[in-house]
Amino acid sequence: MNAGNEEFLPIAEINKLRQRRWQSQRHYLLKNSEFFSALWDGLKVPHNLADIAELPLCDKPQLRESQGAHPPFGNYLASSEAQIIRLHRTSGTTGHAMNVALTKFDAEQTARIGGRCHRAVGIRKHHRVAHCLNYQMWMGGLTDHLCVETTGAMVIPFGVGNTRLLIQTLLDLQVDAIHCTPSYPAVLEQTIDQYFPGMTPRDLNLRLGLFGGEAALDQPAFRRRLEDTWGFKARNANYGMADFYCNFASQCEVNTDLHFLGHDVIYPELIDPESLETIPWQEGSRGELVLTHLARQAQPLVRFRTHDAIVITGTEPCECGRTTARFQILGRTDDMISVRGVNVFPAAVGGAIGEFSELSGQFCIRMKGKGPHDRISVEVEVSADSEATDELAARVENAIKFKTRASAKVMLVPMYALPRTEGKAKRLIREEEQ
Ligand SMILES: [Zn+2]
Repeated sequence: MNAGNEEFLPIAEINKLRQRRWQSQRHYLLKNSEFFSALWDGLKVPHNLADIAELPLCDKPQLRESQGAHPPFGNYLASSEAQIIRLHRTSGTTGHAMNVALTKFDAEQTARIGGRCHRAVGIRKHHRVAHCLNYQMWMGGLTDHLCVETTGAMVIPFGVGNTRLLIQTLLDLQVDAIHCTPSYPAVLEQTIDQYFPGMTPRDLNLRLGLFGGEAALDQPAFRRRLEDTWGFKARNANYGMADFYCNFASQCEVNTDLHFLGHDVIYPELIDPESLETIPWQEGSRGELVLTHLARQAQPLVRFRTHDAIVITGTEPCECGRTTARFQILGRTDDMISVRGVNVFPAAVGGAIGEFSELSGQFCIRMKGKGPHDRISVEVEVSADSEATDELAARVENAIKFKTRASAKVMLVPMYALPRTEGKAKRLIREEEQ
């Protein structure tokens, strides 16, 4: 039942495999998942995977409630506790950390699917990869590390913090690839400036910059700037979510869009985040990504809402030989700002800002109250050798309007006025109305 290199199989073969896996997963859930047995009470649970939209969606608040009522794993735990070999905790942004349990089967499958992503971005046996994600209970640390290891590359478990030591380590060990969040290079650049006089990012000789966790890399200008500054290939290596699979999509070496690389064990759907209607899975479709596990033991999920809005950019086989669909992330459905009826994502604003050499690329959108909004208010940082003029602000406002179709009020701020972070950058702050 374990997965191999199915991302290269013809789609028809993958579909047969998924249908078989759904049949046994369906049986397993009905027998072992109290949560889904209750959610589906009185419903006919389809045998055919294509009919899965007949089942209700599930969402994170339900899982959180389930863990509150049935600690620590929730009643969507379908394996025995004795089968669990690894536990991760996810962010407590709403105050409650979630416990994510993996059986041996789940852990191996997770490493295999994640490994496909790292192979797709070009990691090979000869690479030395500094893994700079959080190891403290987070999936991005240990579990992603194990995904990278499946490529045969040497992985250095650096984790987060102590940027100065990291730079020294990259030099000492002649590391040629780094795996971190897209906002982290800005922190590294600042540290090099401060502590390594005469050195530039290019002097580190990194060949691959592997990123995940944010949509920023989908902006060509941001990617170009990273590659120009560092001299590495910037690749989107990591898309996933802890409750589901920590990494199941990445770009390949010939296309910058994300490939779904777990199609044989995941059934993805698109829905309209407001009406919850299903949107056809085809090139050009936009909607919220909904995911179903087809082979999972500990905490299997069916029709799980990710709250990530995506656009499918290709369904034909890619030049690289992978057959599964490609997509781009538009943003979090919670970060969607409605400006006079136009839906705007912070990443699109970032795309417009990234086109200006006079700007550092850092920005923060501040919106008052729930709306409706007439325009976007955004603080934008100028680069070190540029001046904040009204003329520049006006040009940035025009560029945002052109890219997003929404009006913007731009306030230019000096270089380093906005905070850098090694975690996910906060691009949108919703302020309470006075
Ligand atoms: Zn490809």
